[in-house]
Amino acid sequence: MMDREKELEEKQNPFEELTKQFSDILGKAGANVKIATFPFSENPQEELNEKPPLEQAEDDREALKRIHNFNLKPKEIKEYLDRFVISQEEAKKVLSVAICDHYNHICNAIGGKSRKPCEYIKQNVLMMGPTGVGKTYLVKTIAKLIGVPFVKADATKFSETGYVGGDVEDIVRSLIKIANGNVELAQYGIVFIDEIDKITNAVGDSGRDISGRGVQINLLKLMEETEVSVFSQADMLNQMRTLMSMGSGKKQQADKINTKNILFIVSGAFDKLGDLVKKRLGTAQIGFGAARGTADGDFEFLAEAQTEDFIRYGFEPEFIGRLPVRVACKALGEAELERILSSSEGSIIRQYEEDFSGYGIDIGFAGGALGAVARSAAREKTGARGLLTVLERIFRDMKFELPSTAIRSIILDAEAVSDPGSFLKNILQFEGTDGLRDIRGDVERFVESFGAAHGIFLHFTAAAIGEIGAIAREHRASVVATCSRLFEDYGYGLRLLLKDGEGNDFEIPLEAVRNPDKFLSERITNFYNRAGE
Ligand code: ADP
Repeated sequence: MMDREKELEEKQNPFEELTKQFSDILGKAGANVKIATFPFSENPQEELNEKPPLEQAEDDREALKRIHNFNLKPKEIKEYLDRFVISQEEAKKVLSVAICDHYNHICNAIGGKSRKPCEYIKQNVLMMGPTGVGKTYLVKTIAKLIGVPFVKADATKFSETGYVGGDVEDIVRSLIKIANGNVELAQYGIVFIDEIDKITNAVGDSGRDISGRGVQINLLKLMEETEVSVFSQADMLNQMRTLMSMGSGKKQQADKINTKNILFIVSGAFDKLGDLVKKRLGTAQIGFGAARGTADGDFEFLAEAQTEDFIRYGFEPEFIGRLPVRVACKALGEAELERILSSSEGSIIRQYEEDFSGYGIDIGFAGGALGAVARSAAREKTGARGLLTVLERIFRDMKFELPSTAIRSIILDAEAVSDPGSFLKNILQFEGTDGLRDIRGDVERFVESFGAAHGIFLHFTAAAIGEIGAIAREHRASVVATCSRLFEDYGYGLRLLLKDGEGNDFEIPLEAVRNPDKFLSERITNFYNRAGE
């Protein structure tokens, strides 16, 4: 690089150059020190904030005012949560109360409204339950409602010393980062620590895990009250910047943050805890744990966990003592997963609708489709996360293919969910033409005439309609003629099935179009077998 260019670059990155020189000096002196750069610019807002500084300052003032004048009631918080989080009634109630207690206490302390100063025990919360059931989502949603910064960390990433893994204090610093550098706002934030059940000091295969105990003690200090330096020890660069900005007479941000008003919520699956509770309760507890061995049974036992169980599980008594609010979350069944898709305001379906609408494509779901997604998701055993896995599988190829076609709307039914490949193949056959719409219209004409002749209303799934179109094209026949040929025996056959008050509606899926006789005879055989039972 030319000297002049190098000089210019140094001017633009004076701190980087300084850091390099500093490292070199330390390196020559034999010190094995790495200078970490904290991801803040001199003014963190310049880097992290998308809003202009004045607008951000106004937002921060508003947020602080809301916290100082906190006046939500537990029921209001629960009602807000109900819009997003399905099920988990107990967790919603317990969290709503804990949150109100916490922020009321802050607000009273600030306003000098406390009747008499009392020893306040912070309402730090411990949440138990399987993965993907809404533990993080509940807390995130509350943080959004109140307008406080929220950070999530994984307990297994911390090490006792902070040398190998992260330092527990880093999490408080990330809260400041999320608050765009506003230390005052960060001190009212919520810290969520997941996988807390993995830092127990229980005896494992390789003996007692000492480091777990160390991390618990470090976290304990944070959860109680301590002062954390805004910049980490390793972050010499920012320490230098602070010194320099002090010298320059710029307005100085606080260099320490107190953790007194930060709410800590820890969470974990606590797989084996249920067994410990079960053992303690013994078999004498008749009637309790009716659903023993099932997901609901696990929930019942977790809900009964007491301090002694947590200590036996491997937690330090002081640590668990700082988590006075405990609540178990339930596993989610098929019905709940379907409700998450259909009724949660945060439903992942909204995201897919948006993704497709970016290409001008509407997506919709016919009856039974969301139930089929929920059924597949339940098999994944990852809670609501399974919904994303299943939807991704369904939409992956469609997201790739459809934007380059003239198709502007798709409706998925249960069959499309179970066989998205055939569904896509069928609709792509008519790409760029009005073919599919024409076929749908022709099939409807057949449905009408079939209804008039037999009093039975056929409902063709989207994939079935696509397949009829393909068959008609292959045989160079009209759609109505193809339907008449394929379903010529259905008038008589279906009357056998539907005569005993089974209603007048009958669904025709893809397999019925592919093999109409086999489909009908199987239905009839099943029907008579059932009748004979
Ligand atoms: P975890 O219990 O492991 O903390 P999360 O809360 O992170 O699980 O859930 C992952 C995602 O699944 C959430 O972001 C949310 O979209 C969805 N989800 C999970 N549980 C629920 C629920 N009970 N109601 C609505 N959505 C949920």
